[in-house]
Amino acid sequence: GKVLVSGANGFIATWVVRTLLEQGFAVRGSVRSAEKCGHLRDIFAAYGEKFELVVVPDITQEGAFDEAVKGVDAIEHMASPVHLNAENPDEIIVPTVKGTLSMLNSAMKHGKNVKRVVLMSSTAAVLQEQSEPKTFSELDWNELVLQQIAEKGSTASGHTKYRAAKVLGERAAWEFFEQHKDKLGWDLVVLNPPYVFGPTIHAVSSPEALNLSTREFYKIFTQPSTQATLQAGNCWVDVRDLARAQVLTLLSASAGGERIIISAGPWIWQDWLDATPNSSKYQEGIPGTGTDTVYKIRFDASKSARLLGMTTYRSKGGDRAGYGGRLGSAGMV
Ligand code: NDP
Repeated sequence: GKVLVSGANGFIATWVVRTLLEQGFAVRGSVRSAEKCGHLRDIFAAYGEKFELVVVPDITQEGAFDEAVKGVDAIEHMASPVHLNAENPDEIIVPTVKGTLSMLNSAMKHGKNVKRVVLMSSTAAVLQEQSEPKTFSELDWNELVLQQIAEKGSTASGHTKYRAAKVLGERAAWEFFEQHKDKLGWDLVVLNPPYVFGPTIHAVSSPEALNLSTREFYKIFTQPSTQATLQAGNCWVDVRDLARAQVLTLLSASAGGERIIISAGPWIWQDWLDATPNSSKYQEGIPGTGTDTVYKIRFDASKSARLLGMTTYRSKGGDRAGYGGRLGSAGMV
């Protein structure tokens, strides 16, 4: 099969492209400009005609993906703004929502062969910040950020604006799907990962140009951090496991219509210092303080095991979990 991956030059998407190609899929990647093509062409040169790129300059334009969806069997929609710099919340909400809807519209009108669309959402659309420890599941929606945006507008934090964009982008996708599903040749799956860490294979010109999650990770090793920061955390997934989950999503019939959390487990920043002793000349923090009692946020990832076969995830120590699930052994849905 052939898969369209939007935002193919991003941190996660480059791994998705690589994993798809390794598993025998053909890939059409979309990027915003011709300059973003060179590195991808270089690293995937060995795949010849199985890898192609198209330039889609503005994903918010109606019909932006009309040509890109032609002849593909599935879509991994990854292109979406990830930053904390929006002044007006609409600066991030509008491209997230419109980009998603323009992809779904193009898939509806011109994606004759499309069987499945996978939308990259986030646990940002799931978890509500709270003081008590809690395990969140796919049933949870981050309503709180929408309230905060309604109350605070542009004075809300960058995180709140980003999270609201992810809530509204995902919600728009489900609404579109509900409204049109009788006439669609495809189903929708939404993946909700927490912080994604791991090796970068996309083009990055400098540490400041890293994507948000790996930039935050890099800072822990290259700058002094407060004790409060080192004790703060969330959950995570290794980018290679997330890419694997994205391929498994194309192979699992039962994933259709589902929202699926992809999470390896909780962390605090201290844990990453502990995992690589002597790795920072600025701090060692207080080793060993990342324990079960300090983790506040957890996600129930059992659905990913049940529907995708994601029974193993890489751990903080950097072990090598093998390919679980049916990757490589089954056909696409
Ligand atoms: P990157 O910033 O590396 O990738 C983002 C991609 O989206 C790039 O290809 C970028 O293109 C494109 N993009 C950004 N803004 C726009 C826009 N306005 N119009 C068109 N394309 C745009 O981030 P990640 O790989 O980390 O993120 C990919 C997806 O995964 C996002 O949807 C993000 O919300 C989600 N996610 C990420 C997590 C993480 O921890 N990294 C956690 C959970 C979800 P360009 O290079 O041209 O800017």
